[in-house]
Amino acid sequence: MDYFFSEKQKMIRSLARTIANEKILPVRQELDEKEEFPWAILKEMADADMFRLFIPEEYGGLGGGCLDLCLVVEELSRVCGAVGISYAASALGSYPLLDYGSEEQKRKYLPDIAAGKKLAAFGLTESGAGSDVSALATTAVRQEGCYVINGTKQFITNGGEAEVYTIIVMTDRSKGARGASAFLVEKGTPGFSFGQKEKKMGIRSSATRELIFENCRVPEENLIGKEGIGFIVTMKTVDRARPGVGAQAIGIAQGALEAAVAYARERVQFGHPISSLQAIQHMLANMATELEAARALVYAVARTVDAGVKNFTEESAMAKVFATDMAMRVTTDAVQIFGGVGYMRDYPVEKMMRDAKIGQIYDGTNQVLRNVIALELLRRRAMRE
Ligand SMILES: Cc1cc2nc3c(=O)[nH]c(=O)nc-3n(C[C@H](O)[C@H](O)[C@H](O)COP(=O)(O)OP(=O)(O)OC[C@H]3O[C@@H](n4cnc5c(N)ncnc54)[C@H](O)[C@@H]3O)c2cc1C
Repeated sequence: MDYFFSEKQKMIRSLARTIANEKILPVRQELDEKEEFPWAILKEMADADMFRLFIPEEYGGLGGGCLDLCLVVEELSRVCGAVGISYAASALGSYPLLDYGSEEQKRKYLPDIAAGKKLAAFGLTESGAGSDVSALATTAVRQEGCYVINGTKQFITNGGEAEVYTIIVMTDRSKGARGASAFLVEKGTPGFSFGQKEKKMGIRSSATRELIFENCRVPEENLIGKEGIGFIVTMKTVDRARPGVGAQAIGIAQGALEAAVAYARERVQFGHPISSLQAIQHMLANMATELEAARALVYAVARTVDAGVKNFTEESAMAKVFATDMAMRVTTDAVQIFGGVGYMRDYPVEKMMRDAKIGQIYDGTNQVLRNVIALELLRRRAMRE
């Protein structure tokens, strides 16, 4: 299908595809087995100016949009979903700064993120506050020109590897939803440490760690925006990030579909390639159709974001839910088409199936996002009537 990309977008996609095929493909299995963070690949991406894409030109970036980012994440994830998300998480960690940071903060942090010298990460989740973000327990208390942070963030992508962390904590519990605030914390700040790298089902080479704050003092200048806007920052950040999770899902599904088609043509049973069986053909046809529908939705939402539409909460949630549910079905069917060897780690599809699962869980679970979509839908209907 032709999505009428600009010449620049075609170039970005082609560069990301080359990096994926030449640098990620030869090592993806090893990275997965060793659960090793893909630093060498991210360095290649930095050298190719890929981290500049999501940063405005005035801060050393290329001023690319949501669709540009999605194209890169999709191509990386077609080969390895873990590399795709390690890259995308740096954009996620930068969004609070891009949208609500002061000029001084942007000048201080964004050029190094754009150059790929520093990775960013976003810390919201806690052990007691997953889907229910109103239960955040980490606090920041103002004291003599600084804020003192105490608490622990859980499951933070790029945790321990990133240098710049944007976190959401409570500055005034008595104010409820208006009592949360966003802060910047740099790796190396006294009182800020990391938990063990989590051992995961999939996206195993990506880093997921706790962020631990024990009387961690950050200067007042590290407050992003002003006190009380933490949940507004959160909503904007996750809305912006969800098309990227959708792009990770379509990339993983594309990789699985390609592998399944190739295997179906080559595997002979009953004297014929299994691709001659209608049962297999119908599975492939469904996989391809669902994948294309998800891709069209993710791109359409990314273009909506790039067009400057203010509220895209519903669309962004739809793209994430639809694409990640699709990726789970497509990768599961790919394993089925491979039969017994599909279950073996020597073949790529079992990793794709493991990698696909996280898309339904992070950045808002798909159940919670269905609540979000329904709420928006009902609110809009009510407004029309
Ligand atoms: C690998 C990985 C990377 C992550 N990266 C980050 C990161 O970079 N930054 C960050 O801040 N967080 C991150 N997370 C956290 C992630 O966003 C949360 O795990 C997710 O939001 C779900 O929260 P929870 O795990 O506490 O599940 P829970 O909220 O405990 O949910 C458990 C189950 O209950 C369901 N449920 C809960 N509430 C509702 C409801 N109201 N309606 C219907 N169903 C409901 C859920 O859908 C789920 O099925 C990451 C998680 C993982 C596993």
